[in-house]
Amino acid sequence: MNVSDILQPVIENPNMPPYEEARANFDWKDVEKAFTWHETGKVNMAYEAIDRHADTWRKNKVALYYSDQKRDEKYTFQEMKYLSNRFGNVLRNIGIEKGDRVFLFMPRSPEVYVSVMGILKVGAVVGPLFEAFMEQAVRDRLENSEAVAIVTTPALLPRVPYKDLPHLKHIILVGDEVPENDEHANFYNFEEEMANASEQLEIEWVEREDPMILHYTSGSTGKPKGVLHVHNAMIQHYQTAKWILDLKDEDIFWCTADPGWVTGTSYGIFGPWLNGATSVIRGGRFSPEDWYSTIEKYKVTIWYSAPTAFRRLMAAGDDIINNYDLSSLRHILSVGEPLNAEVVHWGKKVYGLNIHDNWWMTETGGILIANYPSMPLKPGSMGRPFPGIEVAILDENGNELPRGQMGSLCIKTDWPSMMRKIWKNEEKFKEYFAIPGWYISGDLASMDEDGYVWFGGRDDDVIMTSGERVGPFEIESKLVEHPAVAEAAVIGKPDEVRGEIIKAFVALKDGYTESDELNEDLRRHVKEGLAAHAVPREIEVKDSLPKTRSGKIMRRVLKAWELGLPTGDLSTMED
Ligand code: ATP
Ligand code: MG
Repeated sequence: MNVSDILQPVIENPNMPPYEEARANFDWKDVEKAFTWHETGKVNMAYEAIDRHADTWRKNKVALYYSDQKRDEKYTFQEMKYLSNRFGNVLRNIGIEKGDRVFLFMPRSPEVYVSVMGILKVGAVVGPLFEAFMEQAVRDRLENSEAVAIVTTPALLPRVPYKDLPHLKHIILVGDEVPENDEHANFYNFEEEMANASEQLEIEWVEREDPMILHYTSGSTGKPKGVLHVHNAMIQHYQTAKWILDLKDEDIFWCTADPGWVTGTSYGIFGPWLNGATSVIRGGRFSPEDWYSTIEKYKVTIWYSAPTAFRRLMAAGDDIINNYDLSSLRHILSVGEPLNAEVVHWGKKVYGLNIHDNWWMTETGGILIANYPSMPLKPGSMGRPFPGIEVAILDENGNELPRGQMGSLCIKTDWPSMMRKIWKNEEKFKEYFAIPGWYISGDLASMDEDGYVWFGGRDDDVIMTSGERVGPFEIESKLVEHPAVAEAAVIGKPDEVRGEIIKAFVALKDGYTESDELNEDLRRHVKEGLAAHAVPREIEVKDSLPKTRSGKIMRRVLKAWELGLPTGDLSTMED
């Protein structure tokens, strides 16, 4: 990388002190002082995220702006407090108790956010699901978690096989058509129950280590795992949101992630509200027009999204941007997949801002590595470890590798939002901690001389070709740099001579068509930019690449298709 590629910070007074200083003075114990329970000893995420603001000058501050094709609403912290109190009472009235799993299966809507807080207020555990899940995906998760209640809609009810799920006793429907109770379950109408419930609620105070949310992973590499987080995670949600998202009281924050995915809860709900920030939630599907008009409409200042969205906005062309007033934006972030340097440079050009990549996983509960607003940004890098977090690149034996070398990305245990359990899978849980003292992420990365971490791919996706270990990400990034390529995914394909050969799948930008010349040009581009051994021997053009609902390219699916093998669990795949 050239020094000239480094982007200097553009935010003038970030919450976070200069990196070295923040790191030298950091102690998670100090963060605890931000919470009411530090004084009272009474813990509950929902209280810290909502109620305590409702008791201050923030009570009339907007907590949530919501809009979709049909609705356009706003809710203050005080309104959220009373609505979630009501929902807490609804749950209590039907017998939901501390520790019960209550699932949410519906499109983004204010009811989702009210429900999350209500569930937490009675000490129950939130289980978020993507609205697009089909029956098998819903069944697997409700069965595995032994959920006792679900909040859903009449339209989605046919995908909830409650008759086969003996634990699932209560179905709360947001919408009018409520079936009669039967021997399997009781049905309730959300609005009616809410109207009849009291606005006053005695919060269930819990322990910091009590379960809070059960999130199933994205399923990029295999069957989704049920990852359990506890109330203690708020420490990390709060501090990372404050420093990395740089939330201030005057900000309007928009996290585009659905709450079915961990980003949509840790940073779509908890992080911003713990900081008393105003959040925007946009329902409905992605379109560049709709997204830009959302920024314009709410004067969004901080925007947290994902590479897949930025790549689609990039493919939509730069002209459309001129139709919107995006001048409110001051900070942009990305997570979930590698953010190609190409996209960062494009972002700088069209938005005049740095797109800050950061890294974490469902299992880590919160951001662990980030490009901070207070620090120079290296495009293509995930940034540096959060203060209080120690990262190492280890080999198979747990030995630390020298700087610059690619290895297993590991985190020193533990941190406040680390998962506490893989639901009903103790064995899988242990695998993450096979090296004593370390959490093994399953991702490959290297660390450079300045301590910036560079993503190399998933452990499972590494390609061994002619004796070289090649991470797919570098090649994909190179391909995406080419003007014809919108998206790329690279896999290894077994080969008798070379061990594996590299095969690339690419989706082209509008105006380009598949040809031998183009393939040749792509190969030349990779060879000149990277190395001869990284050149894809095979290139296949596809209309689009298979992705998870959270926008991650599913290389395992491409590989299975290519090799004629079973595709495995496809529950999280986009249509
Ligand atoms: P599964 O574990 O079910 O296979 P998943 O790993 O995609 O699915 P998530 O927990 O949603 O489920 O995603 C975490 C993974 O996303 C990380 O392990 C990493 O591979 C990828 N990821 C997240 N952020 C980044 C980033 N900034 N750069 C590169 N990869 C990232
Ligand atoms: Mg994973």
